[in-house]
Amino acid sequence: MTTEGTAPDTDESRVRTTCPYCGVGCGVIATADVQQGVEGDQAHPANFGRLCVKGASLHETTGHDGKLMFPMVRGRRRDWSDAIDEVAGAIGKSIKDYGPESVAFYLSGQLLTEDYYIANKLAKGFIATPHVDTNSRLCMSSAVAAHKRAFGADAVPGCYEDLELADLLVLAGSNAAWAHPVLYQRMKASAREGRRVVVIDPRRTATTELADLHLALRPGTDTILFNGLLVWLARQRFLDSDYIADHCQNFEAALAMAEAAAPSVASVAEQCDLDPDDVEAFYHWFGQTPRTVTGFSQGINQSVAGTDKANAIINCHLATGRVGKPGASPFSLTGQPNAMGGREVGGLANTLAAHMDYHTPGARERVQRFWGSEAIADGPGLKAVDLFEAVHRGDIRVLWIMGTNPAVSLPDSERVRQALARCPTVIVSDCTATTDTTVHADILLPAAGWGEKDGTVTNSERRISRQRSFLPLPAEVRPDWWIMSAVAGKLGFGDAFGYQNPAQIFREHAALSAFENDGSRIFNIAGLAGLSDADYQSLQPVQWPVNDTTEDASRLYGDGRFTTDNGRARFVPVATVLPTQLPDPQRPVVVNTGRIRDQWHTMTRTANTSRLLAHRQEPFVEMHPRDLHRYGATPGHLATLTLEGDRFVGRVRESRQQRPGEVFIPIHWNRQFSSHGIATVLTRSVTDPVSGQPESKHGVASITPFRAAWHGRLLVRKNRPKRWQADYWCRVPLTHSESWWLAGRTPLEWPGTLPDWLNGKAQLVMADPAEGRYRAARIVDGRLEAVLLLDRDPTRLPDVQWLDGCFAEQTLSQAQRRNLLSARDVEVEDTGAIVCSCFQVGEKQIAGAIGEGRNTVQALGSALKCGTNCGSCIPELRTLIDQTVPATEAESD
Ligand code: SF4
Repeated sequence: MTTEGTAPDTDESRVRTTCPYCGVGCGVIATADVQQGVEGDQAHPANFGRLCVKGASLHETTGHDGKLMFPMVRGRRRDWSDAIDEVAGAIGKSIKDYGPESVAFYLSGQLLTEDYYIANKLAKGFIATPHVDTNSRLCMSSAVAAHKRAFGADAVPGCYEDLELADLLVLAGSNAAWAHPVLYQRMKASAREGRRVVVIDPRRTATTELADLHLALRPGTDTILFNGLLVWLARQRFLDSDYIADHCQNFEAALAMAEAAAPSVASVAEQCDLDPDDVEAFYHWFGQTPRTVTGFSQGINQSVAGTDKANAIINCHLATGRVGKPGASPFSLTGQPNAMGGREVGGLANTLAAHMDYHTPGARERVQRFWGSEAIADGPGLKAVDLFEAVHRGDIRVLWIMGTNPAVSLPDSERVRQALARCPTVIVSDCTATTDTTVHADILLPAAGWGEKDGTVTNSERRISRQRSFLPLPAEVRPDWWIMSAVAGKLGFGDAFGYQNPAQIFREHAALSAFENDGSRIFNIAGLAGLSDADYQSLQPVQWPVNDTTEDASRLYGDGRFTTDNGRARFVPVATVLPTQLPDPQRPVVVNTGRIRDQWHTMTRTANTSRLLAHRQEPFVEMHPRDLHRYGATPGHLATLTLEGDRFVGRVRESRQQRPGEVFIPIHWNRQFSSHGIATVLTRSVTDPVSGQPESKHGVASITPFRAAWHGRLLVRKNRPKRWQADYWCRVPLTHSESWWLAGRTPLEWPGTLPDWLNGKAQLVMADPAEGRYRAARIVDGRLEAVLLLDRDPTRLPDVQWLDGCFAEQTLSQAQRRNLLSARDVEVEDTGAIVCSCFQVGEKQIAGAIGEGRNTVQALGSALKCGTNCGSCIPELRTLIDQTVPATEAESD
């Protein structure tokens, strides 16, 4: 067994743990005194001390504001005993009246492996319902299905080091600079003479900063591009024929299908809307570079043909013998912190447990024997989208959701809300009290969050790391495994769920991976099954497999032996399947959805820190200038995207990085933070037929300007009643105050409206009706209570950072009172929108420095410190330089 990483810290107040956000799985050092902040773990093999701005802000998210502290049953606080009775009672009654399949679990890639294991065991092994799925379905289930088709197991062959060793790095459907920032920084730091990077993405994202070649292909045509590559490799004699003959099968069928779909470079270029020379250049580089890694992510996975896209990529790697070798592999970049841990235990509805499938002969009996259960689910369950359809139909009558927010994240989210409203019993375990999903819960269970819970997670390179607790469990908060074990006990399964701690669960999980494993299951962590509690506590980051026969687990399949029945990898013939949701005259715009740099999922944690909201405060619509003109949209104003009556409203951002006819919107906003900011109302429940993953990357909509009579910013002291009304609103919690962006279609009579909105009379008022401008402030006992800034033109509304600081003052100074309605201290520089979140450096400061001749990222860093910590803003710094400085003047770094 090989482990890497650090020895336990000798300072016991410093706890080595793992970041809970993305699949990079960075090591973090934290202390119980969260005010001290967190730091990157220098010796963690995922990040070697680096953290992105989300990770570096973790200590700001551990407060108790908005936290779910007590069990609640139908809106009333109850003790644990009652709550457990209610949960077990609902499950038991549903089983009795409607059968076990009337009960379903919807889990999360944020759960720890131990929690995931218990959920899977309880549902499939004891309640005997197969309906256990997870939000990882939305993230990487296409990659899982592709791995299984090609390699015979859901196993990522490479490791992070390969991304650095590769001489050709191909990034397909991955904006790693924003979605996997630390991994992106590793790729960037490994740049060297001769190393090339190709980015394949319809958008010019921050990641293309790294690219020698950007292929801005027509959305959904990735299989054509990679089928064309396979054809080209065959014709130009770049195939590794010995490898194909000795280690693979079905090559001829895959090649024949590729030839039919993508017969020539010209055909590929035309179908993908690319320059033939660029296609040819990519193919040449791929053919000529033995050390090639293709990293792929949501842009590949979230598609009606996501599994095929991933297999088209893997086909090209198999054809050149580049799998599981140093610097040569396909590499799935997983979105969530523990998506892979969930896959290991069987958290996906179509798997059973510990990388065993239902259809594997003897698997059900083996797992049942190991668990000692009387009944076990007898076949695959419903995948996420189908599962919520079954809830909508009434087939599922008890739904237990853990640590996820399907009312926001699933496609066609309005229908998901309907399903939740119809379901007789919705149980939600969460650490946040109010989310778009918890508002539908009949029973709310307070689950431990990051810093409080204890267990393991597995990152994108198969590395198991400990997530350790360093904070006490507040109030009635309990770990998920404890909650589920208590319910299991109440249901009469106590003998199989008598766990005292997560170490015990982990040992069982490890033992199941090894149970009757004759080598047919590559996920085997037998070497961890005998850990003592103390060993578990000090467990160092380790890649699986962990057993006697594996000396080095950093790469898999490098010897050409795969996990299929005959040991050969499988080429998969891939036909062209284009997106299902296509534009038409009524819905002419293609909608692409994705993450932004400083937010995570549905903002339940990241919106707790105002620093992370400074980068992008509102939902937005990124549009090409040509589309601005075509649809009458104006940068800085609002626009409405509509699909069959469902609406998304966002602030318009002009972007030459979009293809004309396509817009980009972020996935994060929800009803707790915005009136119309939910991206998933514009994506329909269209899924990949193999993986069940929704086509979240390709919706359609119409677009119209949002015609507002007024736009405003309102700041009030925290926890004040909300009395305003607006057709558009977006909540932006600031450090010292609560704030909103507002807009209304109907003119209001402000002097009469103000007292309600400001919770009392305004002391300072400024009106300029000719300009459509109105400003007012309310001060009580010398303290600022509320400020309202209104303007006909939203681009004239000032930044409110300085105003927020005024809310911290016990007594406003004369100068502050004087400046309140101009919203800034004239002596203090107006920084503009924040670009560097780490050092809070704004756009106007950067523009000023560029104007003074600091026209490199390095020079900006020396002057302003921007980009010198996590580096996530560097692509934006470079864009600002490019926009400001003529190409001939810009100096390279
Ligand atoms: Fe956390 Fe991912 Fe950032 Fe690492 S890259 S600090 S895991 S969010």
